[in-house]
Amino acid sequence: MPFAHDAPKAGTYLPVLEEIAAEISAMPGRGRSADYIPALACVDPDRFGMAVADLDGGVCGVGEWRTPFSTQSITKVFALALVLAHESGALWEHVGREPSGNPFNSLVQLEYENGVPRNPFINAGALVVTDRLQTLTGDASADLLDFLRAESGNAEIGFDLEVAASEAAHGDRNAALAHFIASYGHIRQPVPPLLDHYFRQCSIEMNCADLALAGGFLARHGVRADGSRLLSRSEAKQVNAVMMTCGTYDAAGEFAYRVGLPGKSGVGGGIVAVVPGRCTVCVWSPGLDERGNSVAGVAALDRFTTLTGLSVF
Ligand code: GLN
Repeated sequence: MPFAHDAPKAGTYLPVLEEIAAEISAMPGRGRSADYIPALACVDPDRFGMAVADLDGGVCGVGEWRTPFSTQSITKVFALALVLAHESGALWEHVGREPSGNPFNSLVQLEYENGVPRNPFINAGALVVTDRLQTLTGDASADLLDFLRAESGNAEIGFDLEVAASEAAHGDRNAALAHFIASYGHIRQPVPPLLDHYFRQCSIEMNCADLALAGGFLARHGVRADGSRLLSRSEAKQVNAVMMTCGTYDAAGEFAYRVGLPGKSGVGGGIVAVVPGRCTVCVWSPGLDERGNSVAGVAALDRFTTLTGLSVF
């Protein structure tokens, strides 16, 4: 891994993180916490944390970088990687890899595109991914949790069963998406247990350090924390590319314009961004814009790539 020796250590990034936290101190609190379930609506939008993990597992951070939060759609990246590790390209028969230009929970494209979701990071596509992971492992959410614990080195990571139950109680739209896709044969598992796995997946609680470390394999071109290979170099490139074009829903163009990194957001207010060959960054602030991305999180990543020059562009 020659790149591991060229890249700076995590502590090198601390001054820049401190500068960003000071610069954007007025931003946390802007936007609104996700309000589609009570368990997320009660999170204070004023919170902020940010962490950087280097390629060797070092991590540093500012603010509430050790405070767990609801990872939500960020888990879609890890589920995708696990499926690709098992079956490589076969997944792409059932899900596309183009930006949707629509909200993350939209149904509108599915019918005229024959039940094939546009990409694995909108809810429709993530349900297909979780279906594949369930078929391949027999326990999709547990497999994902094991992976996240291993990569972050944090065995305490777990599901928030209150959030999962709340997602299920308000899950009509995700149920509609899953049943509709199943009618075209792109979901094969029975829908009710599949939804349970998807809701548990979304409910996983992690902090900025955990997520920055867990995303490290994408900065290491597919190599896991223990040095074993999860994805080929080419597959890691592909996941990063889909994050770049689809990872922030219908704001992916704006995210590329402002941040210029592969990134994946979740409605818990977290965003993970990857600097291939260098580091992984995670930021958390629960106040969301109208597209479901953290207002302060995007601003912080914008400053990060501007101050460090570490955009891929
Ligand atoms: N649990 C959310 C949902 O399925 C996740 C969405 C998100 O983070 N964008 O609607």
